[in-house]
Amino acid sequence: MKSVSGIFYKRILGLGGIGFLMFSCLAAGCGGQASVYRSADIAMGTVVNQTVYTTGEDETGHILTLIKDLEKEELSWREADSEVGMINGIQWEDDGVLESGAPRSVEISRELYEELERLWRISEDSGGAFDFTLGRLTRLWNIDAQASGEAPVRIPDEEEIAEALEKCGFEKVSLEEGRLVLEEEVLLDLGAAGKGIACDRIGAYLRGTEVSGAVVSVGGSVVTYGKKPDGSPWQIGITDPRTGEDLLGTLSLTGEWYISTSGGYERCVESEGIWYHHILDPENGYPARSGLTSVTVVCGSGLVSDALSTACFVLGREEGEKLAARYGAETVFVDDEGNLYLSHGLKDIFTPAAK
Ligand code: AMP
Ligand code: MG
Repeated sequence: MKSVSGIFYKRILGLGGIGFLMFSCLAAGCGGQASVYRSADIAMGTVVNQTVYTTGEDETGHILTLIKDLEKEELSWREADSEVGMINGIQWEDDGVLESGAPRSVEISRELYEELERLWRISEDSGGAFDFTLGRLTRLWNIDAQASGEAPVRIPDEEEIAEALEKCGFEKVSLEEGRLVLEEEVLLDLGAAGKGIACDRIGAYLRGTEVSGAVVSVGGSVVTYGKKPDGSPWQIGITDPRTGEDLLGTLSLTGEWYISTSGGYERCVESEGIWYHHILDPENGYPARSGLTSVTVVCGSGLVSDALSTACFVLGREEGEKLAARYGAETVFVDDEGNLYLSHGLKDIFTPAAK
């Protein structure tokens, strides 16, 4: 496929606008052969990479818009007008964000209702290791802002953490006839599942297009769809948590799959010789220390793969493997010593990186 896109660009350069139209016709519609479109953008506060093969129009712009709309209209806790923003009751003040935190019963969209039902179930099944109501706690740590330099490094003290934890807990939230009911002070944070939800939306969108194959990553969550024109599988890299850059190996996948990775290396800060990362253990309010540096989950749903990767990271390998098995999901665990553990279904499709 590389060669097709290579020729594509040469033609554009050589023949200008008309050449573009003529060649589009040759490469796509008339010959029935797919063109490849690639893009790299920022959305949902992370990098979105797309490779899309289609005999139809370039879909990369539509996919990016879909992700941005999902963030703006539904999931973002920073946007006062998003559904999560409204549920949290965000009010913007000159000096930052203020949440009202009163008890609330909020009518929500069917999509968010269904997603929250599934997230509630994963929260319960994981014994609260995954919890979508950690808003007070994640805001207190504010690791994202610390890691990006937006906020100074400050580790909260035990009292603050205990106070925040009292205002967290999925049992404090219920779903009743199209409404979400929250106890006082509870704030949602869908950061551990949002990128997977975006991948689900992308998969659903692609099914209604002429796209024959695509791989789209939204930060640590990836969707693979269809196949490459030459029929070879998608190669999804597993990042080495020790460097955050090199690969430990690749998974070869064909068709529609959802892959999410949670890693303690992704967003972290150092204070007085101790490293703190962004995946928090709801039991004690501190960054999870379960002997793992990264967990990758592969299954048929982006929401599930994303939520489970976070849950498994908190639970540790033994409990995490059991939880993933209940959802029919495959896993790659990497522990503090750099050992890699593949679930049965991935053993034949994993290729270790050359040393
Ligand atoms: P991920 O990278 O998918 O594991 O998600 C991590 C993000 O989810 C963090 O930046 C927090 O916003 C939020 N989060 C942290 N710990 C948890 C947890 N135990 N359960 C649910 N969400 C969490
Ligand atoms: Mg996650």
